[in-house]
Amino acid sequence: MRSETAPAIRLEDYQPPVYRIEKVHLTVKLDPAETEVVATLSVARQADVQAGTPLVLDGDELSLRELKLNGEVLPDDGYTVSPGKLEIHAPPSKSFDLKITTQINPEANTKLMGLYRSSGTYCTQCEAEGFRRITYFLDRPDVLAIYTTRVEAPKTDCPVLLANGNLMEKGDIDGTDRHYALWHDPHPKPAYLFALVAGNLAQVPNRFTTASDKKVDLNIYVEHGNEGLCSWAMDSLKRSMKWDEDVFGREYDLDVFNIVAVSDFNMGAMENKGLNIFNDKYVLADPETATDQDYANIEAVIAHEYFHNWTGNRITCRDWFQLCLKEGLTVFRDQEFTSDMRSRPVKRITDVRLLKTHQFPEDAGPLAHPVRPRVYHEINNFYTATVYEKGAEVVRMLKTVLGDEGFHRGLDLYFDRHDGEATTIEAFLTCFEDTNGTDLSQFALWYEQAGTPVVSVASAYDADRQTYSLSLSQEIPPVPGQRSSKPAVIPLRFGLLGPDGKDMHATSASGINISGDVLLMEKSRHEITFSGVSSQPVLSLLRAFSAPVRIDQKFATADLQFLAARDNDPFNRWQAVQSLAMQELVRLTGTIRHGELGAPADGVVSVFGAVLNDQNLDPALKALALTLPSEADIAQEIGKNVDPDAILAARKQLRQAIARQFHGALRAAALEFAPRGDYSPDAETAGKRALSNRAAYYYAVSNTEDAAQFTWDRFSSADNMTDRLAGLMLLVHDHMPGETAALDLYLSRHEKTSLAMDKWFMVQATAPGDGTLATIKSLFSHPLYDATNPNRVRALLQSFATGNATQFARPDGAGFELVAESVLEIDKRNPQVASRLLTSFRSWRALDANRCALAESTLMKISSCEDLSRDSRDIIDRTLQ
Ligand SMILES: [Zn+2]
Repeated sequence: MRSETAPAIRLEDYQPPVYRIEKVHLTVKLDPAETEVVATLSVARQADVQAGTPLVLDGDELSLRELKLNGEVLPDDGYTVSPGKLEIHAPPSKSFDLKITTQINPEANTKLMGLYRSSGTYCTQCEAEGFRRITYFLDRPDVLAIYTTRVEAPKTDCPVLLANGNLMEKGDIDGTDRHYALWHDPHPKPAYLFALVAGNLAQVPNRFTTASDKKVDLNIYVEHGNEGLCSWAMDSLKRSMKWDEDVFGREYDLDVFNIVAVSDFNMGAMENKGLNIFNDKYVLADPETATDQDYANIEAVIAHEYFHNWTGNRITCRDWFQLCLKEGLTVFRDQEFTSDMRSRPVKRITDVRLLKTHQFPEDAGPLAHPVRPRVYHEINNFYTATVYEKGAEVVRMLKTVLGDEGFHRGLDLYFDRHDGEATTIEAFLTCFEDTNGTDLSQFALWYEQAGTPVVSVASAYDADRQTYSLSLSQEIPPVPGQRSSKPAVIPLRFGLLGPDGKDMHATSASGINISGDVLLMEKSRHEITFSGVSSQPVLSLLRAFSAPVRIDQKFATADLQFLAARDNDPFNRWQAVQSLAMQELVRLTGTIRHGELGAPADGVVSVFGAVLNDQNLDPALKALALTLPSEADIAQEIGKNVDPDAILAARKQLRQAIARQFHGALRAAALEFAPRGDYSPDAETAGKRALSNRAAYYYAVSNTEDAAQFTWDRFSSADNMTDRLAGLMLLVHDHMPGETAALDLYLSRHEKTSLAMDKWFMVQATAPGDGTLATIKSLFSHPLYDATNPNRVRALLQSFATGNATQFARPDGAGFELVAESVLEIDKRNPQVASRLLTSFRSWRALDANRCALAESTLMKISSCEDLSRDSRDIIDRTLQ
């Protein structure tokens, strides 16, 4: 039988639940293969619902042991049950207690959804629909209940027993080797925020005092031996708690906040109320095994999950279409946190690079969807860059449009008005309308329309009249299911630069609403005239990337060079360097495809030299400005008939040209900016390290006599993971002398550290060159490769499919085939990991004719498989649409 596509769930079909579940009392008797779950639900019929209306509860692979209603066993004709559903045909009264006993097998749960066992530790993942794998329930976010959870397990296997909320009591179970803990969460919550953990874990305690002087116990639980790797995560948590009080006025609301790190986890981390469960890569760090980027990620993810306590937990989503309500807002909040902790421009550039690399291609391909989708087949596939990162951009624009004060007024009302509720994007926006007296109906289109708007720009200067005219138009290219679009509200931060690099101020402007330095596009076309402009300005548009749009503007190279050197907006200065490099890389790619040699233009190469030699530029910003657009970015810019080999060659040409021309300065910078003394992950030191490594990246291909030795020495003498990994990447990706020795050295140093070994697999999977495919195949049987561990699978396969364009899209189709085979194999165990890997085909239609045909036949082959999971079936259907 061919796997069925799950039925479409549509926003317009939303109906409130006919029953409420007000209280849940769970007793979970843990056992590796036979865990018994006794759930007592206090159920109430909604006021406007007819008596006798059936109660239909969700299940997934459940087996029912006993069912009682108000203490009486329910007769067989009173209900029907299957692994996926429990229906009580005619509940007798307006409110009643339902006691459901089910049995589950945590050890056999390879999907890692619901209750499962990872390295001997029991843990749960219930978002989006995992709770129904624990007991029959109204598993939807608008059913909010108060949970009391009793966890029972053997004392020796599971000395630690955790659940949501506050610990009420714990003790031994008489006459057995088991004990129990009773947890109570006073805050009503949807089932997706339920969590339970039991195992033999080490506890790292700390304490936080809230603004209103409440003491909160903080704990991080990790595998024994990892206690020393939690200090950065703990420090990040305390700074997050303080920052949320200072900036958003939000205090923590339980006596305890627990974090548990587990090594088998489908996602990054999960914000369960009072009991966050983390992929251990976002908790554990020391200089020996974690890079600066890892430290920054830990800080951001710890903050993100903590911030959910208000944006997601206290106020949750009415239905899964509103996922961006909690995710977009919380990503915005964690971005702001990082900006305050570190460098705002560096954070902005980093986020925009991520958006352009992950979200823009999604928005331009077959998997495009609005920030708030209106239909889905499998909700697990909507934890996307569009919902998260574009969702955050929409919140950022709201702040830009309303101003800081207006934004915070609206948000304060949102926290007041909707605390304890499951709500919608409409309700969220209404809070800003009510507090600012403004109409946001046009702004709301950002949640409804898929695709990245393109803003086209043309300008002219009239020296006689001293006027500068600007013509702006917007359009969203067609995306699946959306042929036409309406004009969006687009806030464009801008500056008109005079010859001295300072912003000029026009005496007046017409044709658009301007507030401060923001042009507010509201129509599909604006003709704008600035008067009193004394000399020809250079336009700096979309400063700080004030809207998630593409700008289509014909720049003279001289203007870009001017902006690259002089723009006082750091983001646009970086953008100008990128645009120059991009123009040149696209040109070089074309030249190479025509079989010509070509050479990078001196004007572009010299801009990189100017950046390198600018003494006033912050090292972290300099490192970013010296980073060439990625192969994926270039492919996206080219848009169609893409040849990844030509792109790789063009990028290499430009890199070598820069390296050869400035080898002296690069070598000096690599040495000068390498921090000395004890390692510190702070932004300033990390920025210097980034610049040192960026300079070394160029120097490695400088053709100087000592380049290879210099690279090897940096790798072999590195005293921290950031430098070691940077060195390893150069040696392996540039196939330099010592490549194999470096991999061996790294392996012997880190073979016992799982997170460090993920990097070892990743480096080899992302190496360009024909040998990589064979390497990956041999790594499948490496003793440290574990196909059941999501982090390891992502390190080897996801990084190959998304970070090795020339080998994934090999002209012989072998790269596609390798990924397809892996998808099919993983799909049997863990559909979420498989379907995520499958999304790496999302840009297949942009490839050249040969690769496109190969991708299509590979995708058809996957599609013809009879037993695909719902998750993978959904992605394959949409990818082929
Ligand atoms: Zn989140």
